[in-house]
Amino acid sequence: MHHELSIAERVKIFIEQNFKPEEFGNIEKIVIGIGKLVVADKNQIEEAFNVIKKESDFPDLEIKFITDELLFECKDCGKKFSSQGYEIHCPYCGGDLRVLSCDEVYIKEVVFK
Ligand SMILES: [Zn+2]
Repeated sequence: MHHELSIAERVKIFIEQNFKPEEFGNIEKIVIGIGKLVVADKNQIEEAFNVIKKESDFPDLEIKFITDELLFECKDCGKKFSSQGYEIHCPYCGGDLRVLSCDEVYIKEVVFK
């Protein structure tokens, strides 16, 4: 839960740092990208954020989550590709893969009314 709470806190800080108080009412929702390998419960982040926003200047703001595809890079041929699944071998040459980006939580999009 601690991890989820800190993510929710970061969303609040992002809003406060990037928008003026008079703009808060124009924001409909914040879309949050979550890497597929992030170990965090989206429902718990949302619950934490719902508690935080009640005390903030944007009590009606919604957050939405999009789980990113995994991005792989082949160790042998260097090709990059994304996939929803957990690939083991490169589809081009059969080589070993490493996962490039998958453990991040970031602000993907701000949707205005
Ligand atoms: Zn390859």
